[in-house]
Amino acid sequence: MKNILVINAGSSSVKLSVFDVTKQDLTKIIHARAVRLFHQDAQITINDKEERVLVEKDLAEITVKEPNHKVAIEFFLGWLSQQPEINIEAVGHRVVHGGPKYSRPVVLTDDVISDLEAFKPLAPLHQEHNLAPIHVIKNLYADLLQIACFDTAFHQTMPDVAKRFALPGKYYKEGVMRYGFHGLSYEYILEALSEQQSIDNKKIVIAHLGNGASMCAIENGKSIATTMSFTPLDGLVMGTRCGDLDPGVILHLLTHYELSSTDITDLLYRKSGLLGLSEETNNMRKLLSSNSKTCVEAIDLFCYQVNRFIGMLVAELGGIDQIVFTAGIGENSAVIRAKICMLASWIGVEIDAESNENNENKISGQSSAVEVFVIPTNEALMIANHTHRMMNNSK
Ligand code: ADP
Repeated sequence: MKNILVINAGSSSVKLSVFDVTKQDLTKIIHARAVRLFHQDAQITINDKEERVLVEKDLAEITVKEPNHKVAIEFFLGWLSQQPEINIEAVGHRVVHGGPKYSRPVVLTDDVISDLEAFKPLAPLHQEHNLAPIHVIKNLYADLLQIACFDTAFHQTMPDVAKRFALPGKYYKEGVMRYGFHGLSYEYILEALSEQQSIDNKKIVIAHLGNGASMCAIENGKSIATTMSFTPLDGLVMGTRCGDLDPGVILHLLTHYELSSTDITDLLYRKSGLLGLSEETNNMRKLLSSNSKTCVEAIDLFCYQVNRFIGMLVAELGGIDQIVFTAGIGENSAVIRAKICMLASWIGVEIDAESNENNENKISGQSSAVEVFVIPTNEALMIANHTHRMMNNSK
């Protein structure tokens, strides 16, 4: 069997998916998830395509050092090497930041890797972890084709006016601009949507509402604006990230509270958002099941911000035909979708309560001025498709 391995590394977890590429439509045959990395209870679970658990292993048992990405990936590759029917021919990585340079997937040569190393400060919570598996595989299998697929690449089509901050031109020239993220998810959603209908001339807002959350304005299948910008910190309220913030607040944190840049990074990336507001959890499901005032306020602010950014994106599009909800919250929470759509009734959104409750593909009512869809995202498949294309091109 010919296979592709897709790696999506987060700060304390890594998802690994093996795709069979022998047929036209790629299918996921194995997936693994290592969680709680850097902690003594770090664990990896490997499942087959029927979700049967094949392996469950405490990573601390197999290392005397800390159970990090390297330990998890080496364990998984060791397990894969004992599966005679699996032959990994290429590896596709999700890499959050492609900087100003990369507008499409790219083969990970030494030069590309050093470029990506230089982008670490642009995504301190992500880039370093995305690079860790690339180095592990390069050390073990130097000749294996590795491809980077970027979250930023999809937004390179944004016009200059949507990319610029009002800072002196020198900073723009040196890469201080709005990049936007979640591009692989947006790309996947558009492919899925265009299998249902033509998206030519359509004005679409996609709301990727997960632990990380952003929204994107699409015209004629291309990104023209998005809520995240220079880093994945901007825009919507997220699980632990603050989203939209007056830069004056950061100056105040530095001068009045005398926080260091490390403290501020920790505050804005890890302690803010739904977690900071609720003072309980970043998990939307838990927030919805709590009656505490702070949890209710956190949910209200989340929905308020989504509607606020719908306003911004509709203005950038000059109208709107469709809204698509995706990612953990967008795909699964009828309550949150209903709240957001209620707030967005000013653009003529009306949802059908039953379709919404059932997480159906189309949840807008007959008389809604805007069609509303729920489409599960699949970033791993998008990466596998890109990697497959690059694999064929490199032959
Ligand atoms: P990530 O950005 O980490 O990939 P996900 O897209 O998996 O995040 O989304 C995780 C979020 O989705 C969590 O806040 C989780 O509580 C929320 N979520 C998942 N299922 C539901 C549900 N049925 N109702 C409400 N929230 C949900």
